[in-house]
Amino acid sequence: MRIFSQRKEVNINIFALMIFLLFIGSGFVGAELLSRYHGCLGWIAGFIFGCSVFALVYSLIMHYWRKWCPIHPPCKKGKCTGDDYELVERNREEGTVVFCCKCGTKYFQKLPYFKEILPDGSMIPYMKENKWGRWKPDEDSKNSKGQNKIS
Ligand SMILES: [Zn+2]
Repeated sequence: MRIFSQRKEVNINIFALMIFLLFIGSGFVGAELLSRYHGCLGWIAGFIFGCSVFALVYSLIMHYWRKWCPIHPPCKKGKCTGDDYELVERNREEGTVVFCCKCGTKYFQKLPYFKEILPDGSMIPYMKENKWGRWKPDEDSKNSKGQNKIS
């Protein structure tokens, strides 16, 4: 499990580097285009323009991507989404996180599972992330294990 989480971190770093290179690349494309007509000033303006266009497109894509594939599923009452969850506890070694939503319900996350923590400390399956990063009701755990206690 530790190997898995490390690999995931490396992937995220490569992803961030690629985005950064694309960002700078867009700047150079803009600079190249505008410098043909406006020389040195055009180059600077084009660079800034290219970077801004990329930043705008990127944030739009991420916005809709997060709507389509939210980091956290909506809470059981359907009121809270991604940013409404508050971090309660994180265990990096085991890759587990405990969240609390605004309604006061606690959730336990160990990807791909997202479970509800009942007031007595027991957990019930709630959602499961599929390979595309989409949350689906956790039917597998419900059928096989049912409730399981936090050890
Ligand atoms: Zn909630």
